[in-house]
Amino acid sequence: MRRGRVLAALMLAGLLAGCSDSTPTRVERGVYSEPPLPAKAVPIGTDTPVPPAGGEQCGDPTASLRPSTAGGPTIDAIRARGRLVVGLDAGSNLFSFRDPLTGRIVGFDADIAREIARDLLGNPDLIEYRSLASEERERALQDHTVDLIAKTMTITCERRQRVAFSTVYLRADQRVLAVKGSGIAGLADLAGKRVCVVRGTTSLDHIRRDQPAATILTVPTWADCLVVLQQRQVDAVSTDDSILAGLAAQDPYTEVVGGSISPEPYGIGIPKGDDDLVRFVNATLDRIRNDGTWTRIHRRWLATLGETPSPPAPKYQD
Ligand code: GLU
Repeated sequence: MRRGRVLAALMLAGLLAGCSDSTPTRVERGVYSEPPLPAKAVPIGTDTPVPPAGGEQCGDPTASLRPSTAGGPTIDAIRARGRLVVGLDAGSNLFSFRDPLTGRIVGFDADIAREIARDLLGNPDLIEYRSLASEERERALQDHTVDLIAKTMTITCERRQRVAFSTVYLRADQRVLAVKGSGIAGLADLAGKRVCVVRGTTSLDHIRRDQPAATILTVPTWADCLVVLQQRQVDAVSTDDSILAGLAAQDPYTEVVGGSISPEPYGIGIPKGDDDLVRFVNATLDRIRNDGTWTRIHRRWLATLGETPSPPAPKYQD
């Protein structure tokens, strides 16, 4: 009995001694890599020529056709199909993104599209969404693969050569998103810095014209820009404050800085020639400006932009 205890004590002592003797394991080798850039990221060097300022004159590009619900061939075709086909970005926080709980596309742009479907088909749910990148918007309208585009799309004279627009449904301004404490306070500080911008946008044209000393990385979506900013592969992102507010809400280490680089009035994009649909959409926009729906939708999604303004006043060309 006693011998047994002594043996156990000796064994324990031996174990402890063994432990204290062992040298700590050192990591000698490992494979470390830089985070990869998002798919289809393309740098634009300072040697690439800057696009010329859009010289095309079209008067006020935001003037659209007067509202009417009389209908026509486009409206007839959508009603016969029973669904409104809407092009948007399925990953744009605040504007059109998947509700994590329901998986449904929600946001400011999605709600505007739902109001159009409500008036057109009597049911806001009768929408088929087509997810597309900014650079695919005009082509989708020209090819008629969508009935309309509700995707933070700025109305410009240049775009109006190829597509039609509703009246303005939101006024944004291009600004800069930077990491807090980075010292970047606006456009002027982007000289010599790396800036992420999405291809096929007014944001890209403006940043290249107004800050030619910046190095540009282009990507397919604004969510990609947030990722490369978080990975410190760029120093800033520049686009509409409305979109940047959605990115900043996803990352508290970032903030929107500086004044307006350019005004960005949003319109619903519609294929050129589909005048009956332009007028119908303008009638819906008129309704939601007047019955409080626009204000409710703005408060619901864009409260982070500050006090809800009054809805943008429509302008008509006819
Ligand atoms: N408003 C800008 C544009 O229409 C950028 C928005 C976006 O990429 O969705 O080009």
